[in-house]
Amino acid sequence: MKKYNFNAGPSILPREVIENTAKQILDFNGSGLSLAEISHRAKDFQPVVDEAVALIKELLNVPEGYSVLFLGGGASLEFCMVPYNFLVKKAAYLNTGTWAKKAMKEAKLFGEVVEVASSADANYTYIPKGWTCPTDVDYLHITTNNTIYGTEIRKEPEVPVRLIGDMSSDIFSRPVDVAKYDCIYAGAQKNLSMAGVTVVIVKDDALGKAPREIPTMLNYQTHVDKGSMFNTPPVVPIYCALETLRWIKKSGGVEAMDKRAHERADLLYAEIDRNKLFRGTVAEEDRSLMNICFVMNDEYAELEKPFFEYATSQGMVGIKGHRSVGGFRASCYNAMSVEGVQALVKCMKDFEAQH
Ligand SMILES: *Cc1c(COP(=O)(O)O)cnc(C)c1O
Repeated sequence: MKKYNFNAGPSILPREVIENTAKQILDFNGSGLSLAEISHRAKDFQPVVDEAVALIKELLNVPEGYSVLFLGGGASLEFCMVPYNFLVKKAAYLNTGTWAKKAMKEAKLFGEVVEVASSADANYTYIPKGWTCPTDVDYLHITTNNTIYGTEIRKEPEVPVRLIGDMSSDIFSRPVDVAKYDCIYAGAQKNLSMAGVTVVIVKDDALGKAPREIPTMLNYQTHVDKGSMFNTPPVVPIYCALETLRWIKKSGGVEAMDKRAHERADLLYAEIDRNKLFRGTVAEEDRSLMNICFVMNDEYAELEKPFFEYATSQGMVGIKGHRSVGGFRASCYNAMSVEGVQALVKCMKDFEAQH
């Protein structure tokens, strides 16, 4: 039976990305060696990094004066690297969930942290509005897509300071105004590649202002200076990212990804709203196009496990909600087809008809 991968991360990648990466793992560019056993300094590998950087700049329309880096350590290491490199005295954070909270925790090690607003009071089911950002902070940090709770900030807040964005779970799903950011980072395993590489887009002249010694590996400048080759970068995940970037470009770029994301989300949210068994968990205007969360309506609570089992029997994979939300979460990243979402919608309709 065909499987539909709704995992939240690591998650679905286009089939051709997996196949092309697998081929290069067996024989890299006809060299008779595996991609997994060549030096990152091999003359054939540099073009992989160069093309991946160029494609990221092209797809996101990155302005002059920004560097694109491939780092290790996941988005979680960026929670620490961001304040290490950018926090001079005081930074502002918008608390929209688990990941934002973790980012704030690290920032507190380096200076004063202002929580401009929080939706913790309602288990992060909405994006706070009507708050103001102090003008004397070094940056405002936002999590553009809250992978666990299923809310998304699709338009940057209007604030008088520079932005830093954790885009781990919605990067390359829509156009972004990079010029508003000093730094954008994203662990690759949600929408770009296999786990092991983090993409960082950093404004060059925002670096070098933090009043502290920064360990070499945690200093963005090190990696800017060496084009992500200061030490051994994650070669295979970077190659896999390149294949995804080529696929995005061939498919029409981030504008096309945005259109497909809307198509998928419109279908699934419409069914959640229509079907008597289910309801969505977050404020309608803040619904994520990437991670679509829903639960059983109260009067059908006992059908949660049976629905999960039925959907699983129909080929749906990874739809269990995060333990802090419960219910279901269908992650619909770039590589998820509209057909996959239609299959899930059919499960929901068939299950409703059986009850
Ligand atoms: C998954 C995720 C992270 C953590 O990523 P790691 O690469 O596992 O460190 C951080 N932020 C967001 C928004 C995420 O979805």
